[in-house]
Amino acid sequence: MVDVDFCIVGAGFAGLTAALRLKQAGSSVAVLEARDRVGGRTFTEVRDDGTWVDRGGAWVGPGQDRIYALMHEFDAQSYKQYAGGDAMMIVDGKQYRYKGAAPRNLNPFATVNLGTAMLELAKMCRAVPLEAPWDAKKADKWDSITVAQWLDHHVPSLAARELLETAIGGTYTSDTSEISLLFALHQMASGGGPEFVFGIEGGSQDSRIHGGMGAVYGPMAAQIGDSLYASQPVRRIDQDDTGVTVRADGMTVRARRAVVAVPIAIASQIAYEPMLSVDRSLLHQRMPSGAVWKINIVYDEPFWRAEGLSGQSAAPGTPAPVTIDACTDTGTPGVLCVIVEGPTARALCDLDAAQRRADILDSLAARFGAKATSPVDFIEQNWTVERYSGGGMISHAPPGVLTEFGPALREPCGRIHWAGSESSAVMCGWVDGAVRSGERAAAEVMASERVAVA
Ligand SMILES: Cc1cc2nc3c(=O)[nH]c(=O)nc-3n(C[C@H](O)[C@H](O)[C@H](O)COP(=O)(O)OP(=O)(O)OC[C@H]3O[C@@H](n4cnc5c(N)ncnc54)[C@H](O)[C@@H]3O)c2cc1C
Repeated sequence: MVDVDFCIVGAGFAGLTAALRLKQAGSSVAVLEARDRVGGRTFTEVRDDGTWVDRGGAWVGPGQDRIYALMHEFDAQSYKQYAGGDAMMIVDGKQYRYKGAAPRNLNPFATVNLGTAMLELAKMCRAVPLEAPWDAKKADKWDSITVAQWLDHHVPSLAARELLETAIGGTYTSDTSEISLLFALHQMASGGGPEFVFGIEGGSQDSRIHGGMGAVYGPMAAQIGDSLYASQPVRRIDQDDTGVTVRADGMTVRARRAVVAVPIAIASQIAYEPMLSVDRSLLHQRMPSGAVWKINIVYDEPFWRAEGLSGQSAAPGTPAPVTIDACTDTGTPGVLCVIVEGPTARALCDLDAAQRRADILDSLAARFGAKATSPVDFIEQNWTVERYSGGGMISHAPPGVLTEFGPALREPCGRIHWAGSESSAVMCGWVDGAVRSGERAAAEVMASERVAVA
């Protein structure tokens, strides 16, 4: 049995940050990670030529101060997302090339409708208190409808609707009929509003990290050192008057408190004894994750740049609905990232690998030309079937959940404290939110023990 001050369950950014801050403050920790790697929903693959692809979370943006602080701590540099050239959008069978956030040459009705819908979303976001979205004046109303229902009433233009469906449904990797409007407003507000969520320059996809996310989580894990135990899925946590006993497949840890930093969608895979509070137990049954594939397609060169394209494209309803340039800072090799979410992502799970690849490359060729069909590497990551993620990108709340169970997101259950990006009031769902949640949970357990001792 390993005996420590605090046991951390999960070595994604939330768990690693909690462990690092506790260790830096002089506490002893044990971090139990189910997988044979750290990073969780971030996962950097370094290729033979020394370049890298991020198979999970990758982008950082302004206001994400806590991940930037970690980058600074571990000397990881950022570089700007490539945004030269035109973006492309295919809606209603028509192809648009444009600069900026959205095409200006959609039909006038769609353009006006899109603009007013974005303004309305931003206005509603400003009315959501970040620490307690369930206290918003209109919380009950907004939590009683789905995003799809809101779109039904506010976005009559088919083209504008298709774009917003792709953008909002894509963020939560689910059909918009599954997402509470209040949840979506809170998540967007936690980053500063819809412009930040969907934006590249100045938005959530402003920059990448030299060396990928692994350039941060790697050194964090190294600093935690032999307090980190990989391939140790936690199965059960018992708590009593003096501490917790955390049982994984190959080891048991005794600690004063535990920080559980696993995605909410799979938090109920662990048995808690005694049972958690009613609200926390039921919350675990009510925040699922969506379906998402992230596919990095590597080419000798970023050929789209030479043709005046940024690599950013949206083509709802195709096997490659969203693409973005994902090159390293040198621009060589060319890496085009395809993100497939929600119902389309689920449909891709039914295809064999060869058919999936063919469908995706055909879809890209229709947009970017024949060169798209000759990659040197095709790196698929299906987060939907990852046992220790439970889907991606984040767990979301259907209607009724935030107003009824929201306070349980951060409320400790005795000696068990909760971290994870979904529990963050600021930058909820991003890597930065995970870091913030880890810092909050570390402060919480230390404060609780100080009170206990005093
Ligand atoms: C495809 C994709 C793209 C994304 N893009 C971005 C992006 O560009 N920018 C951004 O900021 N965010 C992005 N995100 C979201 C971001 O990756 C997450 O918000 C963040 O990584 C969550 O960190 P976390 O520590 O809260 O959870 P996780 O990273 O999920 O970490 C949880 C850890 O707990 C472990 N675990 C689970 N169960 C157990 C158990 N029983 N015992 C022990 N360990 C367990 C898991 O293996 C995992 O390591 C993306 C996510 C995905 C999937």
